[in-house]
Amino acid sequence: MINNTLIQELIHEIVNEEEGVPVVECLMRGSITDEEISEKTHLKLNTVRRILYKLYDAGIASYKRSKDPETQWYTYTWKFESGKVEEIIKKRNREIMENLRELLAFEENNMFFACKNGHYRYTFDEAVENDFKCPECHGKLEYMDNSEIIQQIRKELSLYENNGSEIPLNFKSYS
Ligand SMILES: [Zn+2]
Repeated sequence: MINNTLIQELIHEIVNEEEGVPVVECLMRGSITDEEISEKTHLKLNTVRRILYKLYDAGIASYKRSKDPETQWYTYTWKFESGKVEEIIKKRNREIMENLRELLAFEENNMFFACKNGHYRYTFDEAVENDFKCPECHGKLEYMDNSEIIQQIRKELSLYENNGSEIPLNFKSYS
């Protein structure tokens, strides 16, 4: 089973069909031909090949072609590129963390004012420009405490920061 959520999400995103998970599970156990995957998963060979191609396209699966000396047919042996998966997940995590840090800085470096009627939230400068009146309903803009938002962003950020070092470790048990 793929018990790593981030890997599951990534596969779901790349393959975007339910059958992706059993195919990847087969690949994670070791090099395997498309026909063997089809037998093990009871999926049609076409389905398996379509999924393999998507994984190949994303760089997380590779294949080796070999010719059967008896039948002269080509066999494709597929391999899971765990290093690439790790790389993609790390890169994605870095991007998410960067965004969260920017968001955090914006929240920390600004004072916010909001309309009592639940309209948009304004920074101090924007509130000054509008004379502390809501442009939509002309209600008074009041200071809004954003410490809860800051806490939420920090919490999310720390989840990513902690995950970042754990993912490869969990993941290596499969490869
Ligand atoms: Zn308003």
